[in-house]
Amino acid sequence: MFAADLGGTHLRAAAVDGAGNIRCRLKQNTPDTEKPEGIVQALVKAVRDCEAQSPGNISAVSVAVPGTVNVEAGIVVKAPNVPGLDGFPLAAALSGELKKPALLENDANAAAVGEMWQGAARDCSAIVCVTLGTGVGGGIILDGKLWRGADGSAGEIGHMSVDPFGGVACPCGSFGCLEIFAAATAIVRMTREAQPQYPNSVLNKSENLTSEQVYCAGIQGDQLALDVFHRMGAYLGIGLANLINILNPEMIVIGGGVANGWDLFAGPMLEQVSARAFPLPAKRVRIVRAACGDDAGLLGAARLALQ
Ligand SMILES: [Zn+2]
Repeated sequence: MFAADLGGTHLRAAAVDGAGNIRCRLKQNTPDTEKPEGIVQALVKAVRDCEAQSPGNISAVSVAVPGTVNVEAGIVVKAPNVPGLDGFPLAAALSGELKKPALLENDANAAAVGEMWQGAARDCSAIVCVTLGTGVGGGIILDGKLWRGADGSAGEIGHMSVDPFGGVACPCGSFGCLEIFAAATAIVRMTREAQPQYPNSVLNKSENLTSEQVYCAGIQGDQLALDVFHRMGAYLGIGLANLINILNPEMIVIGGGVANGWDLFAGPMLEQVSARAFPLPAKRVRIVRAACGDDAGLLGAARLALQ
C-alpha cells in the first residue's frame, strides 16, 4: 500500500504492508500549492520511487489531505493550506496516472485510524483523536468506524466554541474556537499578548518566538510560559469535557507537536475534565498521548486503503 500525508509544508510518503510495517519512507517539501498538477506529479513520483524501493507492495494509493474531503467522490472540497486542491478530483487524477485505485481522507481522520491500528488506541473501538499542530485537528471513531458525518466534515474539534468572549477571530470565520487557544500558533499569540505583564520573562528576548521556545522556557520555570500552557490546558480540558459528555469515548488520544508540552498542560486539562464532565464517562475515559508520532496519518491512510 502507498500512503501519503500531504501537509502545507511537507509531503511525506511511505509504502506500508498489511501488518503496519513501513517499508520505505520519503519526505520532501510540498510543491507549489497553487497548482494541482505539481502536487499530482510529486505524488506520482513518490509512488514510483516507493515501488522501486519496495517492489510488489503497492496495490493502491491513499492520501491524507489537510482539509475537508469528499471520500466517496475522491474530491478535495477545501484545503486552506493547499489552496490549489480546492474542488480538485485528486483520486481520479492519481488513479488515471498510476492505473491503481486511489483514495483520499482528511488528515486528522487518518491520524485517528492510525492510532487505533498501530498506536495508543489499539484495544479500543470508541475514540477521539486530537491533533495539536499549527491548527487543531480531530478524528472520531465510533464502533470501530470513522465518523465522517453527512458531508465528510465531522470531527472539527479545533472549531468547537470554548469561549464566547474569545475576541480573537479564528481562520474558520468563527471566534472563541479551541484552535485559538490550543494550537502552536495560539501558544505564540498568547505569549506575545501576556508579555507586558511579565517583564522578567526570558521569552521577552526572543524575536521569532515559537511554541517550542515557550515550552523550553516553561520546563525551566519561566512564569509567563507556565501561565500560557496552563491557560491552553484549561481550554483544551473544557473541549475534552464536552466530547466526553457527548460521546462517552474509551480513549482520547492527543498528538501533534504541541502535545510535547504535555507535562505543562496536562494538569489544568485534567482539572477541567473532572470539574465539567459527567463522573461516569470521565472515570472511564483514558486521556493519553499519541504513540505513532508523525506516522499516524500515513498509517491511517494505509489502513483505510487496506480495508
Ligand atoms: Zn474556528
